[in-house]
Amino acid sequence: MAIKIERKITNYRVNENEVAGQESAAEKTAAVETDNVIHMHETLQRPEELIGSTYKLKVPEHVSEHAMYITINDIVLNEGTEHELRRPFEVFINTKNLDHFQWIVALTVIMSAVFRKGGDITFLVDELRSVFDPRGGYWSKGKYKASIIAEIGDVIERHLIKIGMLKSIELDNSQQDMINQKREEFERSQGRDTARRSPEQGAQENTPPDDGFPTEAAQCKKCNARAAIMMDGCITCLSCGDSKCG
Ligand SMILES: [Zn+2]
Repeated sequence: MAIKIERKITNYRVNENEVAGQESAAEKTAAVETDNVIHMHETLQRPEELIGSTYKLKVPEHVSEHAMYITINDIVLNEGTEHELRRPFEVFINTKNLDHFQWIVALTVIMSAVFRKGGDITFLVDELRSVFDPRGGYWSKGKYKASIIAEIGDVIERHLIKIGMLKSIELDNSQQDMINQKREEFERSQGRDTARRSPEQGAQENTPPDDGFPTEAAQCKKCNARAAIMMDGCITCLSCGDSKCG
């Protein structure tokens, strides 16, 4: 919008609120405390004490010799009020494996900064999960992991579900019943009732471990479990229930 100046400019004043990047800390704090509800914001001071959760990540030996310990510390905002929120504040990853030192430091510093910026930080999960290791991923607990970083994404998701920032992808009873029914039908159609992978088959490196899914199951594109079966012209996943007909 253009303003026509019809008089001589004899004096001027800078509106401090409109000078980008010049807001004082006090003004920022005021902005985040509207309605007395404190939201996650980068100027929030770190309290003396935070609540931490540590997750152990054990990747196959050929990927990393040592386990990783991922610690996520949360801050509790508006404690004791109806607006009480628990939000991740910082993340640390500890491992004896020094090969990974550089990227771990970079990743944790950046993730912690994203946590403190606030807003919807759940995108981190998908971003991390989309990172694949060019040397190939690995199987862990019946699911294919594209890289260590992708598995760190799974840990972050688990934590965000725990603190209520993400909904659990656990199936409800009716979905589980549907999957169980599909599995029974499939096994009957194959002319047997207990065709499951034997535990020995999973013992080799990089092969799917025994997860109770039919031997002929393919990898599900949605949840990565080797649990997708073809039935009546539809590919159905016996782990997450995803179904596509083609
Ligand atoms: Zn699936």
